[in-house]
Amino acid sequence: MTDTWLPFCIKRPGPLNKRGYGGIPTRTLAEVEGEVKHSMEGYMAGAEGRLMAPLTNDPYTQASWHLSVPKLGPPVEYFALEDICWHAGLPGDRRFDTSLVGNLTLVGIEHEDYPTNSLNANQIHWTIEISKAIRRLCPRVAAKPPALRVNLWEHNWLSATSCPSGLIPWPTILAALKEEDMALTEADKTIVKQIIELYIKHDAPLFRDNVNHLIRAANIPRDQADAALKAKVDAHTADATKHEASGGKHTHPLSATISGATEENG
Ligand SMILES: [Zn+2]
Repeated sequence: MTDTWLPFCIKRPGPLNKRGYGGIPTRTLAEVEGEVKHSMEGYMAGAEGRLMAPLTNDPYTQASWHLSVPKLGPPVEYFALEDICWHAGLPGDRRFDTSLVGNLTLVGIEHEDYPTNSLNANQIHWTIEISKAIRRLCPRVAAKPPALRVNLWEHNWLSATSCPSGLIPWPTILAALKEEDMALTEADKTIVKQIIELYIKHDAPLFRDNVNHLIRAANIPRDQADAALKAKVDAHTADATKHEASGGKHTHPLSATISGATEENG
């Protein structure tokens, strides 16, 4: 189990008992499906006071989130991205084939909103950097383009609250993330290639839906991507033939998948 702290944040660990459900405090980065941007409805000091307060029966103490973005200075991180915090108002589930999302698979980010009820340039910069980092670190987030209600959430889209009260400048954030999406580093491309290989190996529906996007995002030349996919299919077919020859039943829908994945060819 990794323990991921963003290098550009101040690390200020929060109470470890304000995590998880049913005694399970953590998840993997591969389980993270997105993030929720919140407003503190107050000052940084007040929000941190609440976060650090010992856990009691008082609902006021029963809240936790991963990161805060103050008016001044870099963000503060209280919990590793793998920690399951209590910020979204619902747990959601760990499955990826349902629309249920919540604390189990989302990262929580609070923004200091008082006294202006708007984000300043410092906060817009850092909240974008956090979103970029989450996209780089969490393959399931990276597998889809940045999109509202897909991998970017407001608290009030998940549960009954006014948070974040129109605080988040989504058009600016989305524009920055889309630009980043098109300009992946070599390390990012390696990760995307690994995701494509996983997709081939498991024929996972999510990856099948997103393979075209991944190929574009990784900026892998179309013919190379097709050659890589074909090589994988041939290997699987050889495997399946061997398996059938030994008496087992093994059908793999990969050929249909691949024709689906390449229909944007040209
Ligand atoms: Zn909130």
